[in-house]
Amino acid sequence: MALQWYPGHMNKAKNQVQDRLKMVDIVLEIVDARLPFSSRNPILEQIIDQKKHIIILNKADLADPKLTNDWKVNFEQEGTHSVELDAKHNKGLGKINNLIHSELAEKVAKYERNGVKNYRIKAMCIGIPNVGKSTILNRIVGKNIAITGNRPGVTKNQNWLKTKYDIDLLDTPGILWPKIDDPKVGMKLALSGAIKDKIYAPDDVAIYALNFLETHYLERLQDTYGLDKSDLFDHTTPELLMLLTQKFGYKDDYDRASRRIIEDIRKLKLGRVTFDVPGEFYEE
Ligand code: GDP
Repeated sequence: MALQWYPGHMNKAKNQVQDRLKMVDIVLEIVDARLPFSSRNPILEQIIDQKKHIIILNKADLADPKLTNDWKVNFEQEGTHSVELDAKHNKGLGKINNLIHSELAEKVAKYERNGVKNYRIKAMCIGIPNVGKSTILNRIVGKNIAITGNRPGVTKNQNWLKTKYDIDLLDTPGILWPKIDDPKVGMKLALSGAIKDKIYAPDDVAIYALNFLETHYLERLQDTYGLDKSDLFDHTTPELLMLLTQKFGYKDDYDRASRRIIEDIRKLKLGRVTFDVPGEFYEE
């Protein structure tokens, strides 16, 4: 799902999230583990204020495990705990439960001291579109539920979903917009599938991706497409796209070759790739 955000949308989404924040003990900020910087939303830090908050690096099955770890360390240094999740294959929910409990240990201890039985921890998921909020809700609840109101600007009464843990989740995830001031962030979101393909020209996205792969995953790029060292060193990135177009037998249909490269990346033909590198996203 790609959303067009207008200022009205943004305000409405922000107000809705702020209203619901009052009802919860902890915020689960969902990001795409392939884009732990680019898939974060710009205003979350401002609006969650003193609220307990953890980051869930979802789609960890698609991301580079080493960089997922580096990102966890990076967030830790910034004072936020994070945990990886593969919601699609249901791997990592137990760790999230543990982390929520350690964040709220004081509150739970207080309940217990005061003899409060059957207390429920109240949580909500927040994230930009397509990071996996609905999938996570379904996984945590343990059955398929229809998630309504999963669009900005849709008001409805909230319901609490009982989970298999002592945690209740708001059934309506908070949706915030990505921060696309930097066109590279837009390219990365397009690559991940978070932004509709028609918003960016495929050759721009493919050239961005090839350039990143040359820098960070050179061997995988060579192996996947059978490239020689000379193919890579003697060519600019647009020339590399032209070369690959020919290799694929697509004559001069660069758009077709670009779409194939984007699909190959999404389908893990180049292995698990993370497009945000801690400390690198500004000068890239
Ligand atoms: P939402 O817009 O944040 O609610 O995202 P969805 O839950 O609709 O998920 C968007 C897409 O990502 C769907 O195609 C999901 O199947 C997929 N998805 C969600 N979580 C994961 C995951 O952990 N791994 C993988 N590979 N895909 C996932």
